[in-house]
Amino acid sequence: MNRHSLATLLLLLLSCFVSHAAAPSTAAPERPVAIDAREFHLGTPGFPEWTEFAGKTPHGRRLDLTFPATANATAHTLFLRQRDVKFTWNVLLNGKKLGALVPMETALIHALVVPPNTLTNGQNALAIVPPTATDDIVVGNFILDPRPLAVCLADAAVEVQVTEAGRRVPCRLTITDASGALAALTPLPSPAIPNLALSVAARPGVVYTRDGRVKLGLLPGDYTIYASRGFEYSVATQRVAVVSGRVTPVNLAIERQVPTPGLIACDTHIHTLTYSKHGDASLDERMITIAGEGIELAVATDHNHHADYSEAAVRTRLQNHFTSVIGNEVTTKAGHFNAFPIQLGSPVVDHRTEDWPTLMAAMRRTPGVQVITLNHPRDLHSNFIPLGPTNFNAVLGANLRGPEFTFDALEVITSGAMQSDIMLLYHDWFALLNHGQRITAIGSSDTHDVSRFILGQGRTYVACPDADPGALDVAAACRSLREGRALVSLGLLTQLRVNDRFSSGDLATNLAEEIRVEVTVLGPSWTSADRVELFANGSKIREQTVPLTTAVEKAKLVWNLPRPAHDVHLVAIATGPGVRAPFWEIPRPYQPSSPMFNPRVVGSSGVVWVDADGDGKFTAARAYAQALVARFGTTAQRLVPELADYDRAVAAQAASLCHAAGVEVRTPVFGVALRFVPAAVGEGFGAFLESLQRR
Ligand SMILES: [Zn+2]
Ligand SMILES: [Zn+2]
Repeated sequence: MNRHSLATLLLLLLSCFVSHAAAPSTAAPERPVAIDAREFHLGTPGFPEWTEFAGKTPHGRRLDLTFPATANATAHTLFLRQRDVKFTWNVLLNGKKLGALVPMETALIHALVVPPNTLTNGQNALAIVPPTATDDIVVGNFILDPRPLAVCLADAAVEVQVTEAGRRVPCRLTITDASGALAALTPLPSPAIPNLALSVAARPGVVYTRDGRVKLGLLPGDYTIYASRGFEYSVATQRVAVVSGRVTPVNLAIERQVPTPGLIACDTHIHTLTYSKHGDASLDERMITIAGEGIELAVATDHNHHADYSEAAVRTRLQNHFTSVIGNEVTTKAGHFNAFPIQLGSPVVDHRTEDWPTLMAAMRRTPGVQVITLNHPRDLHSNFIPLGPTNFNAVLGANLRGPEFTFDALEVITSGAMQSDIMLLYHDWFALLNHGQRITAIGSSDTHDVSRFILGQGRTYVACPDADPGALDVAAACRSLREGRALVSLGLLTQLRVNDRFSSGDLATNLAEEIRVEVTVLGPSWTSADRVELFANGSKIREQTVPLTTAVEKAKLVWNLPRPAHDVHLVAIATGPGVRAPFWEIPRPYQPSSPMFNPRVVGSSGVVWVDADGDGKFTAARAYAQALVARFGTTAQRLVPELADYDRAVAAQAASLCHAAGVEVRTPVFGVALRFVPAAVGEGFGAFLESLQRR
């Protein structure tokens, strides 16, 4: 053996040794490899975010996995399955940040780009790093695909077309994989869709399309595709096997189910990433979601900004589907308010103002403004809760920070910021009405995103000519809103009629001994109601359980009531089981007050003002109490018997007036007097006394 052949042999041996030593992992994988197929529950032991996690021991706060791989010269893709993610969980590979989990509660398949040279030969470290806040999540089924994401999603596709009455319509597509998770997908170029960016808005498992048409790249597998268009429409569903190398056509037809003549669908609280600088919906994507969810009046309310959507609506060719309104979410350290409509070019209200009367005056002075709403009134922002116990007496409806409230409308449902107790804000609203305010209850979405919160899920139906959604009479809509001709909808639509003549916003007057109250509850086939309640001055006076049905008419109830002894405001509220399907899943509470999650759909009427005393006007509970105290004074012996014909709301106001006059109502004398009047009066006194302690 000469020196040359020895060297060759050594080289050969060496190469053998090298390739042998790393043999199991150096052969670059051609196909996706499961790094770890398990699912891990991550969270803080002892602090379950939701009851479903209670009693379960999380894997830990953080997940660290090691897996063998080879160095990657080209981009790879990491797929994972996640659910119940609320905050920012970073994903690190060998210490390098790949990105974060998608902040969505719904189960979804997340795809992260693994840039070239991120993987190393031998063992690699994958970490899921927690936020500081409590957040229970489930993450797992990690798959490493040796191809770039665009290539992974390029060889199997569906070509979807959605029609209503034979015509393609703007809509939402929701696509779930065999495990029910929102699927990894990408819109693909297609000759039928010349400008993808102006035609679709895509997120994991969700695509909004401006004209019902899209070609989508998916991983091969079995999928369920849902086509939807918001509250008024049916949902079409199809199961599809998506095969490598093939484009599968999917044709879906939806239909208009819920009739809403004379009503326009409004979302009065809409954001974009473009102008609000958070969330993920660009201006053009926002246009597609507005049309795709069937919203007809869209109020732009970016934070401290006057955004005009009209150019974007034309650019996306959706201007015939909705009317956009310039508004502003005046975002202060003392609450968030929406003011609209605003004339283009008007100065923006100084958001550093914290004094409400000054703020309200500034908003009213803004050219064009007709409506001011108080937003998410029980949420904590900048350490301030607008209707929190230090600012608001929720029994009396009284502002504890100064003069009377002067906003026009109150968000009782904000679907992007749900309350644990869906009735909480209704009771706040009732209290404000009892105090004498004329405030309209509204529903909105407050969404900043394409699909994390669904645009128009919470919405308000406002009485307004609705023949041409692209050219609505905004002034008429605003007038109706202020007059209370508005219904709050989160999956149901509830109408209240008194004596076949009076509906939401009306004064029901000239009444006989008995009044006829009719409540109609409508909804699409995919929601149902199981309970209808009727409130008078905020007290529940009737309640009826109703059978679940897929029919559009969920309930039609008639109650014949004796005419009340005094004026009351009547409101009907229908509720039912929450939608859990991914095309319209009711979100979990945003700032939960309980780990229980009991999603419900809701539809509430506006107020019918019942003029029971026949004086041709409505008298609020507080005004009755003031008149009684003025006439009979504040002694138990004289005042309490006079309250016998009145309800809990009037009694609570009377108790507060006594208290304000320096009269102690927690005395045996009051106790004795209250024993001789109906229980409601004592309840009113009790509620008032309790409200003093709550502060
Ligand atoms: Zn806000
Ligand atoms: Zn907002």
